[in-house]
Amino acid sequence: MKLLRYGPVGQEKPGLLDDAGQVRDLSGIITDVAGDALHPDMIAKLQGLNPADLPLVAGTPQDDLRLGACVGNVGKMVCIGLNYADHAAEAGLDVPKEPVVFNKFTSAIVGPNDDVVLPRGSKKTDWEVELAIVIGKGGTYIDEANAMDHVAGFCIVNDVSEREYQLERSGTWDKGKGCDTFGPTGPWLVTPDEGGDFDDLGMWLDIDGKRYQNGSTATMVFKVPHLVAYCSEFMSLQPGDIISTGTPPGVGMGQKPQVYLADGQVMTLGIDKLGVQRQTVRASK
Ligand code: ZN
Repeated sequence: MKLLRYGPVGQEKPGLLDDAGQVRDLSGIITDVAGDALHPDMIAKLQGLNPADLPLVAGTPQDDLRLGACVGNVGKMVCIGLNYADHAAEAGLDVPKEPVVFNKFTSAIVGPNDDVVLPRGSKKTDWEVELAIVIGKGGTYIDEANAMDHVAGFCIVNDVSEREYQLERSGTWDKGKGCDTFGPTGPWLVTPDEGGDFDDLGMWLDIDGKRYQNGSTATMVFKVPHLVAYCSEFMSLQPGDIISTGTPPGVGMGQKPQVYLADGQVMTLGIDKLGVQRQTVRASK
């Protein structure tokens, strides 16, 4: 099942994508794709619906029908750094002994096709295609063996990053990760039954049609169950929280010479089974 949120900014409604690629309205069942609606019991209820019985929403998603972030009211977006050995190498850093955890401020979250706005004075805004985990059932000190019971599904996050702010502005990484529009999320939340183990999904990212990132979740250092358990040692995880699991090689910082985003460029990125995002880069307002 693919859950989504559609409509104008701030007025998104819950929906699901049917097998024909059309949006079906879930407003009569849940108020939002958020919080308690992501609990396993509610996900099971939604999976029991016949999409043909739900109201058809006019328009084509990501074309003439805007999608918001596929999860609403996100309490926190936790990100994992250097979780691909080959990406750590291009960053000139060692693979960490334990997951590197940082925060993306939730005000950064936007829809999968919304504009990404360069912060004022930015010279080093970069891209990172990532598999993101959406928490369905909260918990603390979650056992790795039970971790998947806490996962509502997966989506794409573009972990947009300003490298000067992240690395040259006296720490922490958060300064360069949580700027407004730096967290495109979606297009859909895909439940685990649709994707198998999510352990070997191709992932890619293009800038103006040129491929920069081309990897697979197979090369993740710390896998999804471990990351859920690990994060829950340091915070309670709650329904609707997102954990973005790190990026494969091919970021702009890793190019020789380095390449960064400019006004008018277009980022297109995708992960097998999770759809595609497309953002236009805009200069600071
Ligand atoms: Zn990242």
